[in-house]
Amino acid sequence: MMVSQRAGRIKPSPTLAIDAKAKAMKAQGLDVLNFGVGEPDFDTPDHVKEAAIKAIKDGFTKYTPVGGTDELKEAVKNKLSRDNGLSYENDQVVVSCGAKHTLYNIAQALFNPGDEIIIPAPYWVSYPDQALLNDAVPVFLRTSESDSFMVNPQALEAAITPKTRVLILNSPSNPTGLAYDKKTLEAVADIAVRKNIYVISDEIYEKLVYDGTEHLSIASLGSEIKDRTIVVNGLSKSHAMTGWRIGYAAGPKDIIKAMTNIQSQSTSNPTSIAQKAAVAALNGPQDFILTMRVEFDKRRKFLVNALNEIDGISCKTPTGAFYAFPNVSGIFGKSADSVKINGSLDLATYLLEKANVALVHGEAFGDDNYIRISYATSMQNIQKGAERIKEAVSALK
Ligand code: PMP
Ligand code: GLU
Repeated sequence: MMVSQRAGRIKPSPTLAIDAKAKAMKAQGLDVLNFGVGEPDFDTPDHVKEAAIKAIKDGFTKYTPVGGTDELKEAVKNKLSRDNGLSYENDQVVVSCGAKHTLYNIAQALFNPGDEIIIPAPYWVSYPDQALLNDAVPVFLRTSESDSFMVNPQALEAAITPKTRVLILNSPSNPTGLAYDKKTLEAVADIAVRKNIYVISDEIYEKLVYDGTEHLSIASLGSEIKDRTIVVNGLSKSHAMTGWRIGYAAGPKDIIKAMTNIQSQSTSNPTSIAQKAAVAALNGPQDFILTMRVEFDKRRKFLVNALNEIDGISCKTPTGAFYAFPNVSGIFGKSADSVKINGSLDLATYLLEKANVALVHGEAFGDDNYIRISYATSMQNIQKGAERIKEAVSALK
């Protein structure tokens, strides 16, 4: 059977595919260490779970308004005001089934066939495929490690054509673990306003920042940029709620209305029970985030040090999210037995087969010189994993 041309253009999410492969190997009894997927290994806080249990017991189990309950929109608005200095009306907020779904609804609401979508590379895996699914054209804008993987404003300006519709920003970034500074965000905002393009600002890792890094939303830099930014966030990373599927967007009324219409014809509301849980997460005590961040911070320091001790690997210290993104190009050209490492996929495959370590090749994020290691796993696994990587890489000559 022939699938649609649209479906034929895309591939499965590589991060989810690697996670599935690592889990399948584990199920076969192999001692696989999984650094593949970006998912907090912490449990959802108890008060959040209790709110969901109460919702079930109270019979809060029916359809809700398509774009989320007023109670949850209120909680989202309060969060955006409290944490980001952003104020929105109810009709400027829509809640969806995870931030991935939020991003997809934005693509549906905003992209026309042939529109160019500027995606700074390295990028999160779903941005290009969501553009392709909506008949738009991903335009990759290379960034460099020496600029902490932030877009170079001059290069951005040069990449904009009359067809450019949107720039996608992700700070702190998956996969690089680096966050944008104010100066660069100001320069980007100035260009977006002058050139009349929209900005999708994916801020899902905002709560996971280290070394005194402060998260800044580009939308908070003035009313002109706010009017052309759609802020995306969710509960998956901040409250260890990946399975609950709650993400949200805030932005211009006409875009939010279109997203809500699209949702009303596709998924309807996000799960009623998860919405009650999200209200508890956003309005309740936030100390859980600090506990999680302190633990991630310890793992981050350990992992980055351990990686930098390996010959052929150099890793910049990430200041956000839970990913290390080491440059592994120093290993390329080496071999062990009959295996030659020519790129990041060769290395990831070698590490999985030789050392039972699952991680993601940088090529999946648009830069073959790197690999992504998620440290959202126990310190014990990270210690073991770093040793295994060291041993396997040392065997390459
Ligand atoms: N944006 C980025 C950058 C991500 O890494 C992820 C992956 N979890 C998402 C969005 C989507 O998150 P979710 O759908 O779980 O809310
Ligand atoms: N965003 C996470 C990651 O990059 C989860 C996987 C996915 O949603 O593709 O690993």
